[in-house]
Amino acid sequence: MANNSRQPFEYLIAGPCAAESEAQVYETAQRLHAVLSALPYPVAFFRAGVWKPRSNSADFCGAGEKALPWLQRIHNDFGLEICVEVANAQHVELCRKYGITNFWIGARTSVNPFTVQEIAEAVRGNSGTVLVKNPVIPDLKLWLGNVERFEKAGVKQVFAVHRGFANQNENVLRNAPCWEIPIAFKVARPDVPLICDPSHITGNTQYIKQISQIAIDYGYNGLMVETHCQPAAALSDAQQQLTPEALCELLNSLIFKYSANNPDDLLRQQRNLIYNIDTQLSQLLAKRMSVVEEIANIKRDNNIPLVQPNQWNNVVAHYTENALPDDEYHEFLQHFLDLLHQYSLQRQQKHNGE
Ligand code: PEP
Ligand code: MN
Repeated sequence: MANNSRQPFEYLIAGPCAAESEAQVYETAQRLHAVLSALPYPVAFFRAGVWKPRSNSADFCGAGEKALPWLQRIHNDFGLEICVEVANAQHVELCRKYGITNFWIGARTSVNPFTVQEIAEAVRGNSGTVLVKNPVIPDLKLWLGNVERFEKAGVKQVFAVHRGFANQNENVLRNAPCWEIPIAFKVARPDVPLICDPSHITGNTQYIKQISQIAIDYGYNGLMVETHCQPAAALSDAQQQLTPEALCELLNSLIFKYSANNPDDLLRQQRNLIYNIDTQLSQLLAKRMSVVEEIANIKRDNNIPLVQPNQWNNVVAHYTENALPDDEYHEFLQHFLDLLHQYSLQRQQKHNGE
């Protein structure tokens, strides 16, 4: 059986969410350099955020300009190329002052064409690489358009980074992968290296391996993984950062052998996707149960009967209206919803001690 075994991906980008202190970035770089020099993954970039886009202004917003010489030292001592997030033209100028010419555009910046254009003008003729993260909203055209803005500004190497899309609801993953969007990006621009950022997709080290494997199975060109010398003490994104040694372990555990003729490989690919969907389903079901208990409280406090048949029939009719035009599936959905309803009633009864 032919085995079209693939080489490990071309680009590994690693480093902390943020440069917090000179000792922290230096130790992270030193340990990364030590563990990865034995592996077939040349580190394309050492990443570190210097200006951090935070939802809450009271959170750590980055060390600012004073972190740039720390990164310059890492470049000089370990030969690592440095990559920093820039969110305006001034950030670009400050980085250049310290010899830093590789930049990434964050997911929040990516939603604003004016800002992206301002940065594209600032990097015009840039000799380094610009990595464009997907916008937080699932807008493929905007992402493609942002990449073009940098290409038109004469940037030689532009990468696209898939970091997931803002979740509307709380979810097991911090950001929804919406795999169809990066895949459509790859179809539209097979010439632009596509990098997966499993750290920001998952928000949790627990799922990084799973997401990374899916990306590899889809033929991504690289990974950007947040790496910190002491993740638990990180000032931002503590839950999703790996130690350099754990990153090394992760890379060793990924499977690159892939054969379109090998049923095991094909199954693994699809099972990874199913695992991901089922994880989300089970999280949603748990969430539904907590809403059910709230409903039980309201019914108990207001003497409302447990079962209101018309209410449920209307709900089922609404759900099944949008079902696939397939009788068998329709039947399955009806059955599934009834089961869910029965169990929810049982839980309400138990919750109210009936
Ligand atoms: C980051 O990479 O640290 C970051 C802030 O990313 P994003 O823009 O994807 O949230
Ligand atoms: Mn981060």
